[in-house]
Amino acid sequence: MAGNFIKFLGTAGARVVVSKQLRASGGVWISLMGKNIYLDPGPGALVRCLSARPKLDPTKLDAIILSHRHLDHAADVNVMIEAMTEGGFKRRGLLFAPQDALSSDPVVLEYLRDYLTGVEVLSEGGGYTLGEVAFSTPIRHLHPVETYGLRFEIPGGRVSFITDTLFFCELIDHYQAEILIVNVVRNAPRDDHIYHLTLDDARELIRGISPRLAILTHFGMTMLRSKPWDLAARLKEETGTEVIAARDGMTLYIDEFI
Ligand SMILES: [Zn+2]
Ligand SMILES: [Zn+2]
Repeated sequence: MAGNFIKFLGTAGARVVVSKQLRASGGVWISLMGKNIYLDPGPGALVRCLSARPKLDPTKLDAIILSHRHLDHAADVNVMIEAMTEGGFKRRGLLFAPQDALSSDPVVLEYLRDYLTGVEVLSEGGGYTLGEVAFSTPIRHLHPVETYGLRFEIPGGRVSFITDTLFFCELIDHYQAEILIVNVVRNAPRDDHIYHLTLDDARELIRGISPRLAILTHFGMTMLRSKPWDLAARLKEETGTEVIAARDGMTLYIDEFI
């Protein structure tokens, strides 16, 4: 595949959907400006890469990013590091992760870190580059562990990933973009004790950010039961923004939108 694209190797969110594999949980492969980046390799990431058509080759990865240390985002990080580095025989690639994914009870095994060309710690307000690709982690999310979303800057536009978080207004300012990808776990009223976005939160984010395209993903049971594609169609009507519910294996060619 050529050009700039995002491939969804999993659209599952939260424990039940992941444990039962009602949707796959492999995370997202991002190709921008000739760089290949794996965001959040959850359970099944390696298998989903190799079984994708066309196949996605882990030895072509330039970086792996963990938004946070939760299992549905990081379970396959170690096997992906091995695959990226051909079992450690070819030092390659950068890992970006919050400090708490690397220090106490680390989700990234220490012996594998030497296989990488570097490990960079994500922090609030941080900016990072990978060749011509620049991205930032503008604000720490409200989630039980240290969590960041991403805003990529490429010539012609921005692509924002709002990963797991409880809603707060500053998200709107920090994730302004032409393409917005949102982890919408719940179709239920907002609950300050459940640190996830709801469908109502997604509507507020889409209205506030007004992207050219919004993609909903990371669905929990309440979203799946309500048919995410129907919910996306309704959000499109309500906001006037193009809204898509991600499907497992979906490829988004982003040059059409920025
Ligand atoms: Zn999650
Ligand atoms: Zn989480």
